[in-house]
Amino acid sequence: MTEDELDRLVRTLDLEQKVRLLDGATPWRLHAEPAVGLRAIAVSDGPVGVRGQGWDERRTSLNLPSPTALAATWDEDLAAELGALLAGEARRLGVDVLLAPTLNLHRSPLGGRHFECYSEDPLLTGRIGAAYIKGVQSGGVAATAKHYTANDSETERLTLDARVDERTLREVYLAPFEAAVEAGAWVVMSAYNGVNGDTMSESPLLAEPLKGEWAFDGVVVSDWGAVRSTVASARAAQDLAMPGPNEYWGDALVKAVRAGEVPEEAIDDKLRRLLRLAARVGALTPPPPTTDTPATGVLKTGTATTTVPATGTATTDTPATDTPATDTPTTDTPATDTPTTDTPTTDTFVTGGSVSGALAGAAAGRGASVSGAGVGEGWDGAGVRAVLRRAVAASCVLVRNEGGLLPLDPARLAGVAVIGPNAADARIQGGGSAGVYPPYVVSPLDGVREALAGVAEVRHARGLAADDRPTPLTTGNARNPLTGEPGVLVRLLDEDGAELHAEHRLTGRILEPAVVEGAATVEIRALLRPVADGEWSLAVAGWGHVTLEADGRTLIDQEVVRETDDPATVSLSPPFHRVPLTLAEGREVELVARRRLDPDTGRASALAADPPRTGDDDAELAAAVELARGCDAAVVVVGTTEELESEGYDRESLDLPARQDELVRAVAAVNPRTVVIVNSGGPVALPWREEVPAVLLGWFPGQEAGHGLADVLFGAAEPGGRLPTTWSDASLVSTTPVAGVLDYTEGLDVGHRGWLRSDDSPAYWFGHGLGYTSWSYEEVSAPGQVAPGASLTVRVRLRNTGPRRGSEVVQVYLARPESAVDRPVRWLAGFARVEAEPGESAEAEVVIAARALQHWSAPDGGWLTEPGAFTVLAGRAVHDLPLHAEVTAG
Ligand code: BGC
Repeated sequence: MTEDELDRLVRTLDLEQKVRLLDGATPWRLHAEPAVGLRAIAVSDGPVGVRGQGWDERRTSLNLPSPTALAATWDEDLAAELGALLAGEARRLGVDVLLAPTLNLHRSPLGGRHFECYSEDPLLTGRIGAAYIKGVQSGGVAATAKHYTANDSETERLTLDARVDERTLREVYLAPFEAAVEAGAWVVMSAYNGVNGDTMSESPLLAEPLKGEWAFDGVVVSDWGAVRSTVASARAAQDLAMPGPNEYWGDALVKAVRAGEVPEEAIDDKLRRLLRLAARVGALTPPPPTTDTPATGVLKTGTATTTVPATGTATTDTPATDTPATDTPTTDTPATDTPTTDTPTTDTFVTGGSVSGALAGAAAGRGASVSGAGVGEGWDGAGVRAVLRRAVAASCVLVRNEGGLLPLDPARLAGVAVIGPNAADARIQGGGSAGVYPPYVVSPLDGVREALAGVAEVRHARGLAADDRPTPLTTGNARNPLTGEPGVLVRLLDEDGAELHAEHRLTGRILEPAVVEGAATVEIRALLRPVADGEWSLAVAGWGHVTLEADGRTLIDQEVVRETDDPATVSLSPPFHRVPLTLAEGREVELVARRRLDPDTGRASALAADPPRTGDDDAELAAAVELARGCDAAVVVVGTTEELESEGYDRESLDLPARQDELVRAVAAVNPRTVVIVNSGGPVALPWREEVPAVLLGWFPGQEAGHGLADVLFGAAEPGGRLPTTWSDASLVSTTPVAGVLDYTEGLDVGHRGWLRSDDSPAYWFGHGLGYTSWSYEEVSAPGQVAPGASLTVRVRLRNTGPRRGSEVVQVYLARPESAVDRPVRWLAGFARVEAEPGESAEAEVVIAARALQHWSAPDGGWLTEPGAFTVLAGRAVHDLPLHAEVTAG
């Protein structure tokens, strides 16, 4: 579509029509406009999958390893391959815009969304992010670089003002977004927070550098509920307010334009961008040009196209199953944004305290084939599973391997103990809006069992529970009282308790119950089948008035006051209220949880039940230790949970929850062949790390967790990961704003750059990670001279000195010891992966972009290269750089 054609379409519409398109029709869908051949564009969260429009456990999606894991691969090809896989997922689920990747930085390991961001380093973040974006967009699906910018922690995230000096902004926090724009990102999401006094949906940073200097020609969408003004946000370069309907735009914006407070050209620019996006994702099939057609006449005279808009450039064979039929404008059907599916629909999202629920996409659809990765045997078929399994192994970071304990040789094992709270109950993703419903999960225990089937005996002991959060009912312990099917019955009731809607669901955690006119109460009803005698713990969650009954007896009747404005917390994590109840094994009990749908309280509801604890912690821990004592090797899987690492709040400490440190120490004391797998999205304190022979960081690995981990444990694959972030027991900076201000006083020295200035050392340095072979770094060569503004190529020769084929991430850093400009001690300038057979040498060709030698000069408002000598350092991590060279700039 040419720019002239876009202009013509913009001119076709009157002001009301234009403005109507600039906020959402629903939380996950934009408006259609048949007058210009626009169908409704659908959006979905990522980045570890494509949840689809809203939260529905019946709609499953591939679950990739967490972004921290992806960055740990330092592998842009893999990032692009996974991005392409998600494009296929998006098309299968009727999604045009994926709200990913998250390009904020690991300013602090305490950051709640640390798992959802790539790295503490701007270069690594930018390169992995750019590759992911290219992969997603290669499938005709828009990627969204979010959250622009300095949204690096969660405490007071809606309102905090990040104070970041101009140079730090440019070189650190804006740099990944610049890379994303260079990679061709079609959407950028403005953040909730402010930067240097302006909330991001009103910030001048949207105009410069984003749209001006970087020439971003896509859409700036707001974070959900981040547009909180009419004139200021509309005058800024904010294009689209989500979710919709949004009280600040819409009619209020039409009035502001009429009053001359917002120029109509600004509206036209936003709309042109939106239509450009629509063309890119295949949502625009403009009608042929007509002459003299008055703007408003187009709708009235029914000149809208009769053509069915394409669903995208790279699509599944089957049309997107989530797209309600009414989104396809035809001459017969005037455009409405209200789908006419029979089933009440499920979209809702709370923004800044107000419920903006509306109708949207129909319930789940499955089927179709993945087109993204060219795999072609079903969206979660064997080929796709193999890619995810490979990604897990490629992301695992082996930080310690004393005496070459790993890989374990299955032939030399008779019995293996698999221990720990996360062994059978793998934590595969973090909490918050990034969550998806995976089709299945392979736990570490499953993976080890499969790998050793017929070879060695695998025995399991949990050791302890990592948390005592209530467990929502599942198809495993509950059935629908009406139909008897495994799962629960969810009903919507009116003010008098009469049923308006009923449906069967698969979990007791119902985040988005159907939206039904006149509904006053959500009810979750189930027959719980106790698997044990004793005192069960029942729980119910929801904001507002909640009740819980068991066999007709009221156990909870409570008013729960909403104490947060954070949309993620309101919509996804209302607090649980528990009550004990003695039950008899096998004797079913009917549970009924109800919550009122009060204004401003979201819709999320949950019903949970946990069996009596068998034995006490001491006994469970002792049993695990005994098990370990009697086996040839012990694999201990410790970690965090999606409640501990989540959007909406930061962590208070990096300690592992419960008595996991004690468990590791006790097991290692009785079994010298103890391997600890750390299952967390970001750093946790490992006070015992020198007391165990092997430590493998597995991140939140997604649905193929156990397979990939077992491949590494038993040597089918090398651990490919290198730390994308410093692994420390403590944060160097605080994530708590003071009087609303979060001062980035560390400036350029984020992460390892800060640790390089500290007297302490972190547990493991940025870039660190062992494979199953060893390398000697032999030679580095760099051009002696580089012209200002030019890139250079550094060549590094290294030799595989170990016993097996392996791969290595060669890292090149720059330093400038004598400089007129303040600089980090050294900074990552480039990297490349090489592979070699035992004894063979390999040459890494590392391209260093001109930008790596430049610094941002605030007084000059531009990038400068300081003439003189830069030191080039090459090696395997920021603290292990054996080869040096010099290059003179200018
Ligand atoms: C998050 C975004 C997300 C949006 C929609 C917000 O609370 O910050 O990352 O895309 O919700 O779920």
